[in-house]
Amino acid sequence: MLLIDQLKEAGYDVALSSNGNLKLTWTGDGEPKPARVKPLLEQLSKNKARALAWLMKDTWRPPKRCQCCKDNRFWFSVYGATVCEVCHPPAVERLVLSRSP
Ligand SMILES: [Zn+2]
Repeated sequence: MLLIDQLKEAGYDVALSSNGNLKLTWTGDGEPKPARVKPLLEQLSKNKARALAWLMKDTWRPPKRCQCCKDNRFWFSVYGATVCEVCHPPAVERLVLSRSP
C-alpha cells in the first residue's frame, strides 16, 4: 500500500497492534517533520480500514466453509472483510487483497 510505504519512508514503523489497531512508531532521526508527516497521517486516518486490511492480509486465514453455500473459497477485501467467492464474488479485482489457496 503506497501510503504505508510513504509513512515508512518518512520514518514511521507501521504495524498491527495486538488489539487489532494500527500502531505507529517513530523510528526516524530527531523529531517527525510536521510538513511531511501531517498529510500522511491525515490520509492514514481517512483510510484506516484499508491500511488495517493491508496489514492483516498476510496473516489472514479464511474460514473452512461458507455457512450458506458450503464452498471453501474466500477472498479478503481491501476493507478487511472476508467474503465467500461463490455467494459474493468481487465486483472488481482491485477490491481483492488476498484469496484462499
Ligand atoms: Zn457462499
